[in-house]
Amino acid sequence: MNKTIIVSNRLPLQVKLDNNELEVVPSVGGLATGMRSVHKEGDGVWIGWSGLTEEELDESLEKRVDEAVAREGCAAVNLNSDDIDNYYYGFSNRTLWPLFHYFMEFTEFENTYWEAYKRVNEKFAEVVLENIEEGDNVWIHDYQLLLLPKLIKDKHPETSIGFFLHIPFPSYEIFRSFPWREEILEGMLGADLLGFHTYDYERHFLSSVKRILRLDVKFNQITYHDRIIKVDSFPMGIDYAKFENAAKKHMEQTEKEKSDLQKRLDDHIEEGAKSTLVLSIDRLDYTKGIPNRIRAFEYFLNKYPEFKQRVRLVMLAVPSRSNVPQYQRLKRETDELVGRVNGEFATVSWTPIWYFYRSLPFDNLIDLYTSADVALITPVRDGMNLVAKEYVATRTKQDGVLILSEMAGASKEMNEALLINPNNFEEIADTLKRAIEMPVAEQQSRNAILQKRLRRYSVEKWASEFMRSLQETKKIKKRIVSKRLTKKRKEKMFKAYKNASSRLLLLDYDGTLTGFKDNPQSAFPDEDLFTLLDSLYDHDNTDIIIVSGRDKETFEKWFGDKNYSLITDHGVWLKRHHKDWEPLERLKTEWMDNIRPILETFVDRTPGTFIEEKKYSLAWHYRKADPELAQIRTMELQTVLTGLIANDDLSVLDGNKVMEIKSSRVNKGTAVSRVLAEKHYDFIFCIGDDWTDEYMFEEMPSDAYTVKVGFKKTKARFYVNSNEEVREMLSSFNELE
Ligand code: UDP
Repeated sequence: MNKTIIVSNRLPLQVKLDNNELEVVPSVGGLATGMRSVHKEGDGVWIGWSGLTEEELDESLEKRVDEAVAREGCAAVNLNSDDIDNYYYGFSNRTLWPLFHYFMEFTEFENTYWEAYKRVNEKFAEVVLENIEEGDNVWIHDYQLLLLPKLIKDKHPETSIGFFLHIPFPSYEIFRSFPWREEILEGMLGADLLGFHTYDYERHFLSSVKRILRLDVKFNQITYHDRIIKVDSFPMGIDYAKFENAAKKHMEQTEKEKSDLQKRLDDHIEEGAKSTLVLSIDRLDYTKGIPNRIRAFEYFLNKYPEFKQRVRLVMLAVPSRSNVPQYQRLKRETDELVGRVNGEFATVSWTPIWYFYRSLPFDNLIDLYTSADVALITPVRDGMNLVAKEYVATRTKQDGVLILSEMAGASKEMNEALLINPNNFEEIADTLKRAIEMPVAEQQSRNAILQKRLRRYSVEKWASEFMRSLQETKKIKKRIVSKRLTKKRKEKMFKAYKNASSRLLLLDYDGTLTGFKDNPQSAFPDEDLFTLLDSLYDHDNTDIIIVSGRDKETFEKWFGDKNYSLITDHGVWLKRHHKDWEPLERLKTEWMDNIRPILETFVDRTPGTFIEEKKYSLAWHYRKADPELAQIRTMELQTVLTGLIANDDLSVLDGNKVMEIKSSRVNKGTAVSRVLAEKHYDFIFCIGDDWTDEYMFEEMPSDAYTVKVGFKKTKARFYVNSNEEVREMLSSFNELE
């Protein structure tokens, strides 16, 4: 069975070194649980850092670590303290973390961090490459490894790679300020499936891909070189059964079995039937909105003084990244605020805030969750927030109220909670009052819905859904019907060309013989192209026709003195060698006066677009426009035109970043079929890049070499990647005689 290689910054193990004694304990965190079955299946490998730096390990210890982690199905990436300082504390935690959480002012753009980040991603890639076998899947986790998908894809194009980002992906306006934005996006696009917690993060990512890399995005699929990449949201769940069962067991505890913490919490409850415990648990991180929460609680006590003596905030702040200055400042600020509020309100029998700065064992967390009447979770930004979900899962009697910031990813799936804006103290204070006074029946009806959803979409389900979707991506490629014109297939084609006694080459111009320019007037043919076409024309029994949507005046100027034939205006005009232009269709143009003003209003409202006026058609170009605005405008234009064009027998062609309105009677297909009817060819090569060329492909006999430029849906039999590749192919034809 094929295995899955899981990659994350840290291994799901605690590796401890005590007096040269090595201790390896598997972690019990949510991710490790979710990935358990993926890891076990087919002898999967989990790759990551062990937590010990090279400086802490001599050669023999390193070997022992490797062996110990291997017994747990893991492989260690060796990192030194410089890597940890610059890649982990540096680029990951001082650059990506603040930027992706919208803390621009904390973001440090340091070149040394970036260099270390690249170097460490390569170290991870090395270990993955050592472990990879044909048919394996790779699932990469989180923001420390954004470059890794590409590093693996470049070496193993056939491997299916999934990537999941556990933190928010920021809006384009934030992401664009990032000096290494292209490299990061390209790194991520090595994956075949990219997963985010919410649809918002997904659309922010797609927006950056469209605007920064200017790639084609259709719904949630990105076309990138000859690959289709799927982007989707998978909200991460929790190990629901673990929290539910622990809470049930907790409720059955005898007095003797209770922890000291539980006894203290009970004391509070006994202080009065009307007393309320409000709980918050988070890492001490500036994204968690801890100072805001304390201030809002202070505001609440001032606004509703009747709750003094009756409400207590139990605040657990888990130490985190304490060597990063912002975290040290936050610690000081939190200490001061707690001191101030307690100093201001405390009485002999009541302290408003119980503040714990430590991490607690699982059983104590359950004590807190099960004892709290209200959970007050107010991050200013949070990718997901599992604490909110864990609180709900432990409410065995379905009572309790969750107040949750709408800035947490979890809020998207937890509408039955009381959602608040973490910056609105008025709203937090009022909501806290509402929570304290909420009838139990209402609490239960809200929690019943929340629990049902959390139980269903557990962390195991999250992992299996992601893996299922990754398997699906293998089918997307198969759905594209054309085949890559590989070296082998090209050789077969060249042989057919050589053996043929009469040949026809039908060549589209823009996007095929030449690349796109921002302005179509500047995309004139270069000398190399003329030389190439001239010498191809000199081959015996070879007809060449350039088939274009361009107007005949332009082609006359560029190719008028050439021997090969020209079809212009999408098939209105034909010029055979040494003859005059002949019309294939007689067309009216009165309709243009009605349509032109409409297109002009679109140009006015869509910066970067312009109208190209041809003899028989009008084209609206949007290559330089904002891609998202252009997408909206093209739909709008389609709708506006649909009502207008029917009577005039017109149609709208959706080309490569251009919409063209022209007579329905003409197209490249009708034009080339006339040429085909006049003469028999035993080798036909027909190539084009956009929608208008599909008409030609449709008219070709089944043995013709129909070729699409670019990896898109097509009726052509083959595809090539770029117009550079087209030139190479024509040069190879040229060398055959
Ligand atoms: N947690 C813990 N020990 C503690 C406090 C919290 O293990 O003393 C766990 C908690 O149960 C939750 C996780 O830490 O699973 C925090 O996850 P969350 O998504 O809320 O925040 P993050 O720290 O990932 O930003």
